[in-house]
Amino acid sequence: MLTDSHTHLYLKNFENDIDIVIQEAKKEGINRFILPNIDETTINKLIDLHKRYKNITYPLIGLHPCSVNKNYPKQIEKLFQKVKNTQFIGIGEIGIDLHWDKTLIEEQKSAFRTQIQWAKKLEIPIVIHCRKAFNEIYTILKEENVKDVGGIFHCFSGTIKEAEKIIDLGFLLGIGGVITFKNSNLSNIIKDIPIEKIVLETDAPYLAPHPMRGHRNEPKYLSIIAKQIASIKSIDIHKIAEITSKNIDNLFFKKNQNII
Ligand SMILES: [Zn+2]
Repeated sequence: MLTDSHTHLYLKNFENDIDIVIQEAKKEGINRFILPNIDETTINKLIDLHKRYKNITYPLIGLHPCSVNKNYPKQIEKLFQKVKNTQFIGIGEIGIDLHWDKTLIEEQKSAFRTQIQWAKKLEIPIVIHCRKAFNEIYTILKEENVKDVGGIFHCFSGTIKEAEKIIDLGFLLGIGGVITFKNSNLSNIIKDIPIEKIVLETDAPYLAPHPMRGHRNEPKYLSIIAKQIASIKSIDIHKIAEITSKNIDNLFFKKNQNII
């Protein structure tokens, strides 16, 4: 059994065939789907999907760095009102993205900090989106002392040094379709990272693995990612499934056994 630790199944891309998408994923052995939020335009759809698939989808709450605007305190305040009525298992996806636009860097940093404080208050882990901003994120994680909440560095694509720093902070690395790309160096890095520090993700509908690259990504392709990691690390695929699912259990479900 596999867990897709990062999938946006509530987006428009799936509105016509979500039932089939989930059915096909289950056939491939994917039985849990963790849903990271993006912003105020997605949260209601995310919660609706969770209500329809209560025992297999798990919601996160958070404001994505690319959605942060000048009015971010209001954005965050509005979003986090939802914690009253829905049991979120983590905060995500949150972080800093300096790939497209650096003009709101201070706002992004501050929104990230505020949401880390929410995670501490709620005692739930964080799921981090990091793009061209490793040092900025690492500095904040150290300053905010996040070891107690822990979390996942989603779509990890950094260096071995960065991987080690993240693991030292008590975080797991989210590995997805990029590991199957021929021009990616990620395989060389993952070879040296213990499987106990890795979780699997698709980031569907984005970043479909080879040979589906360029198409809509779906949770069923998580098995392609699991196979790739199994072959890189010469570990049996069942072992990969077992350990990465246990990593998810330890992070999200240890304190709240009743959620599973
Ligand atoms: Zn995502």
